[in-house]
Amino acid sequence: MHTLNETHDPKLTSWISSANGETDFPIQNLPFGIFRRAGSEESFRGGVAIGDKVVDLAAAHAAGLFEGSAAEAAAAASGSTLNDFMQMGSAAWSALRLALSRALRTEATGQMDWSPCLVDMADVEMGMPATVGDYTDFYTSIHHATNIGKLFRPDNPLLPNYKWIPIGYHGRASSVVLSGFDFHRPVGQQRPAPGEAPGFGPSKRMDYEMELGVFVGPGNALGDAISIEDAEKHIFGLCILNDWSARDLQAWEYQPLGPFLGKNFATSISPWIVTMEALAPFRAAFTRDADEPQTLPYLTSEANSAQGALEMKLEVLLETSAMREAGTAPERLSLGDYKHAYWTMAQMVTHHTVNGCNLRAGDLFGTGTLSGPEAGMEGALIEITKSGKEPVILANGETRTFLEDGDVLIMRAWCEGPGAVRIGLGECRGQVLPAKG
Ligand code: MN
Repeated sequence: MHTLNETHDPKLTSWISSANGETDFPIQNLPFGIFRRAGSEESFRGGVAIGDKVVDLAAAHAAGLFEGSAAEAAAAASGSTLNDFMQMGSAAWSALRLALSRALRTEATGQMDWSPCLVDMADVEMGMPATVGDYTDFYTSIHHATNIGKLFRPDNPLLPNYKWIPIGYHGRASSVVLSGFDFHRPVGQQRPAPGEAPGFGPSKRMDYEMELGVFVGPGNALGDAISIEDAEKHIFGLCILNDWSARDLQAWEYQPLGPFLGKNFATSISPWIVTMEALAPFRAAFTRDADEPQTLPYLTSEANSAQGALEMKLEVLLETSAMREAGTAPERLSLGDYKHAYWTMAQMVTHHTVNGCNLRAGDLFGTGTLSGPEAGMEGALIEITKSGKEPVILANGETRTFLEDGDVLIMRAWCEGPGAVRIGLGECRGQVLPAKG
């Protein structure tokens, strides 16, 4: 795991003034993404967010502004995806981060050289940060698993494997889309009630899931497991992930083989990937109460216990058509924290590969819906509304059990804490459009 270094120094400021005020992207963050000027025919290429600017890595590399391993890393990050850069590993990522941190600091001297490599964030369109070869969605929040389980099995909400295995399913990579992608309400089979005949049509129970996306860095060879000690070396960084879910399709189809068409019509991610190094100031101990099953040895390490968890605020907001027309701000549906997860990122990596399954650079994990222990921390409408039985009443008088056409769902995430500058992941948004046809 990363120790703190000069790039985390809370006293650092940037000569890019917008990085020093209220922003998700101060100089301590430096997340990576893929961009080009909006409306242009330019190639998509790697960039780093700082304040309201994007550092064009290809331009800076071409101008000879990097040296040594930072230059090699910048070259790898100059293409249309970050897969090659992700494959390089943490030494390369750190070298580039350090070079950028030093070049963008207030006291740096190369401002004249770097300024031409900056693009206004308002003028860019973002691309997918990586070609996602495989996408796996986990189920790491015990609060979500319990809330959902209660709806189906009030007496026995948690299945017996939950406290032993980081549960997951293999999702669909082809429909992972970038924030801003608006999708049509999916159609499919639904069964109105047990014993009734299924019908077909637009989903009536359209939901979201507040998750984090974990991008895999260097992969492993087929047949080789990744130990819990090495697991975090295989993680590049985090984004926000919305696992859009059609609950009625899901409920009818999920037994016996798990999620399918209720999930694979769209999965949205935020465009900036915050590195594990940037998150170092916000790590927290991973603990299990003494009366809980302790993790098996292959999922246990000193480092994972000491700081395997992460404190990160997770916010979900809804903007309905009526709010948009009235010009009112989106309304918060929940505010949670990643620290409540039952399994860590390292445990996800190690469990996924313990049988020899190979991961590849740019593979994506979802953490599963991240709900917390208290009311107001639920990461999905099905939990907030008790499966549609208790509607949310919005400030303008509207109600929601599930999402309606025209609704825009916005997710935000950020880290803050003593002795550190707040960093954010940006936002992940998407609109539910009417079903096609
Ligand atoms: Mn999910």
